Amino acid sequence: MKKTPNTWFVLWFTGLSGAGKTTSADAVFQKLKDMWYEHIDRLDGDIVRESLTKDLGFTKADRDLNIARVSFVAEILSRNGVGVLSTFVSPYTQARQNLRDKCTNYIEVFVNAPLAECEKRDVKGLYQKARDGIIPNFTGISDPYEAPENPEIELRTDLETVEESAQKVIDYLFENNYLSK
Ligand code: ADP
Repeated sequence: MKKTPNTWFVLWFTGLSGAGKTTSADAVFQKLKDMWYEHIDRLDGDIVRESLTKDLGFTKADRDLNIARVSFVAEILSRNGVGVLSTFVSPYTQARQNLRDKCTNYIEVFVNAPLAECEKRDVKGLYQKARDGIIPNFTGISDPYEAPENPEIELRTDLETVEESAQKVIDYLFENNYLSK
């Protein structure tokens, strides 16, 4: 039987490149689908940067604009009853605070893995390029990542399996009445 969340929400996955934002959000998305939830959507940094924010780079001003544009979309979706799973590095505390202020039911998910672990994974080969100076302003190497101080959820992807991380998010949604059994 099809189900919808009790109320809208914006799950905002933040973390270093390679920390596991896309993987864990996709796993949460799949779990929700398996439970027959509808009105759930994904906003992913790599995809958005190929379309909506294609014109932007990685200076602080451009990163802030990237997140501001996405927050506009996330807020409209959530206002219309869609549960949104957003995956963006979103390295700046102030930009995330703006999201929190703007989006009702903003749920911050800190996808936490040590830089050394992310660099070892180097899923997209970007860390090597950043170390070689080919990519400037790379978060964690040549640009800051301001870690969340009070996230609603923290995933330790260096210590947990993808399944455990995804389940943590699902548990949070049930415990906080966004979903009901
Ligand atoms: P990001 O979206 O943060 O750049 P990705 O999801 O593309 O990161 O890559 C994360 C990598 O870490 C993947 O290869 C994934 O299989 C691995 N990984 C290991 N454990 C976890 C976990 N618990 N959650 C998410 N990813 C994990």
